[in-house]
Amino acid sequence: MITKINNFIKYPLYFSPISYFEKIIVNSHFGGLIKCIVCGSISLINVKDNNLRETCVCIKCGSTNRQRQIAYVCLEAGLQNRKHLSSLKDFIKLDDFVVYNTEASGAIHCQLLKMKNYIYSEYFGISYTSGDIVNNIMHQDLMDMSFSNETIDLMISSDVFEHIPDPYKAHKEVYRVLKHGGRHIFTVPFYQTEFLDEDRIGNDNEGNIVHLKKPLYHEDPLRPEGALVYKIFSLEMLVKLRKIGFRTNLYHIYKPLYGILGKNAIVFEAIKE
Ligand SMILES: [Zn+2]
Repeated sequence: MITKINNFIKYPLYFSPISYFEKIIVNSHFGGLIKCIVCGSISLINVKDNNLRETCVCIKCGSTNRQRQIAYVCLEAGLQNRKHLSSLKDFIKLDDFVVYNTEASGAIHCQLLKMKNYIYSEYFGISYTSGDIVNNIMHQDLMDMSFSNETIDLMISSDVFEHIPDPYKAHKEVYRVLKHGGRHIFTVPFYQTEFLDEDRIGNDNEGNIVHLKKPLYHEDPLRPEGALVYKIFSLEMLVKLRKIGFRTNLYHIYKPLYGILGKNAIVFEAIKE
């Protein structure tokens, strides 16, 4: 009998829309008290609109919902065989942990700056070579990093890989520079119900860039025109990461008391096996 077939869990998994509780938060522009795991404070969050992922800003450190999602998974990464870490304030005391962040601004960066083995970079354009110092900040092209093999414990990227022309070449580079057991904790725009990545940029026969979709730009503090989106990811990404050698966890996190809410609280953790 297969009459009850719809009762089984099947893929894709469709998440429910914004909850009643979240609607109240959006309408009141006030998210209430949280324990901020970026700055370690008991704080309040501001909610500007229903894009909960990019708002819910901690009034003490400026961390967004998305940054707290990444911090939450980082704390778990730092937890391996260690004592409980309640916020990044504990995490930064891990002196033997080499952390590489692909951005040099924002609330997470400001906390990690106090860490002993903290490396950070930005991408300044094709005229520079990875490792160059530009305006006191290291330049790195993630498709060709200057770091030695197996030197990094934890790499963080937050909505970066969709802007890389060949993101899987960059993932292979990440695999090269991570230590065994090391991990890349990241967020990207991700279609939870699609099987194939959406290529927004292609190349013609002469190798010139061709827009396959209407150009899409994300806000970027370094570029007034914004950063061009090359790809929106899907399940295909998890398969490709596996082929590179990563075991990737997709976390859908919901921790309102930490100011982590909304249906898009998705963080990836690619572990080098
Ligand atoms: Zn905070």
